[in-house]
Amino acid sequence: MKAIVKQTPEPGGLALVQRPKPTPSDTQVLVKIKKTAICGTDIHIYNWDAWASKTIRTPQIIGHEFVGEVIDVGKHVTNVKVGQLVSGEGHIVCQKCRHCITGHPHLCRQTVGIGVNMDGVFSEYIAFPAENIWVCDENISLDVLSVLDPLGNATHTALSFNVLGEDVLITGAGPIGLMSIPIIKRAGARHIVVTDINPTRLKMAKELGATTTVDVRHEKLQDVVKSLKSMTEGFDVGLEMSGSASAFSDMLDTMANGGKMAILGILPEDTLTNWNKVIFNSLTMKGIYGRQMYDTWYRMSALLQSGLDNEIEKIITHRYHYQDFAKAFEVMRSGDSGKVILDWD
Ligand code: NAD
Ligand code: ZN
Repeated sequence: MKAIVKQTPEPGGLALVQRPKPTPSDTQVLVKIKKTAICGTDIHIYNWDAWASKTIRTPQIIGHEFVGEVIDVGKHVTNVKVGQLVSGEGHIVCQKCRHCITGHPHLCRQTVGIGVNMDGVFSEYIAFPAENIWVCDENISLDVLSVLDPLGNATHTALSFNVLGEDVLITGAGPIGLMSIPIIKRAGARHIVVTDINPTRLKMAKELGATTTVDVRHEKLQDVVKSLKSMTEGFDVGLEMSGSASAFSDMLDTMANGGKMAILGILPEDTLTNWNKVIFNSLTMKGIYGRQMYDTWYRMSALLQSGLDNEIEKIITHRYHYQDFAKAFEVMRSGDSGKVILDWD
């Protein structure tokens, strides 16, 4: 089979290579990949930044966002059948630790990431743990089904705190920040203010239902907040989705007392925090890693079935055949895109 492999430990270093077609174990299913999507994580691996060089062992097949069809199942598999359209949870957990056995597997300390700590899904076939398979609704488009993983990040973060009748700040209008906007809207927020430094993405944010967008290169968020009608004390809920230290600081400066922050963006390790703002303003901070297994998957599927898919469709801006993966990575790296899809048919 053909696979996109990070061949060498250096920037770039991706190649389309021939790999043996995998055989599923007794507890795995064999999936014929239909579409995959490129994640920011894949870009970190491409760029070979400090995180990637610490985490990735080359050569390795990359990728973890996918939809495909089950073409074979191991003999102990009972939850999935041949012919079903599936995606999957990319975090494999130990199933033995305290969190796993008490219903909080997303908190497992032994979590292994597909396409990060082991071969991923950018290939014609993958042997995937049946336990992690999510059977898809065939009425939803393949493009949308290929981005369930990041949509799950958005859903998990956006629904971490009640936003009904609340004012919400989203810092970062990357694909995940953008996906959060229609979710927050449906959940009943009043003001939805979105910041970024990229005009293309801010325009998409507006089209998806942001009530105000702020290009923080040209305007101070604090000044914009002062001009918002009926909002006098700051944001009730903040969703950090940029991974930028200055965006994090903008958020701290504009939260209402008692405000709640859900932090998904991966901040630089040396990001400074004015802890006295957290303490004296009685803020709550929640770190978000991945998706809640499998609460997030049920909720996002229900949201898609009630029309969210139309909005997610708008966030998918580019589609390429897998053989043109180099072009797809270039577009994604430019920042002037939403989600970029690779077609494996
Ligand atoms: P992305 O990098 O495409 O989006 C980040 C956006 O933030 C970009 O549009 C960028 O222009 C914007 N930005 C940069 N500086 C800014 C600033 N000062 N103020 C406001 N916006 C600014 O990433 P994504 O795929 O949408 O993911 C969002 C974040 O979540 C990333 O940091 C990613 O690494 C992280 N992530 C975390 C998890 C997790 O499990 N915690 C999972 C997936 C992604
Ligand atoms: Zn565990």
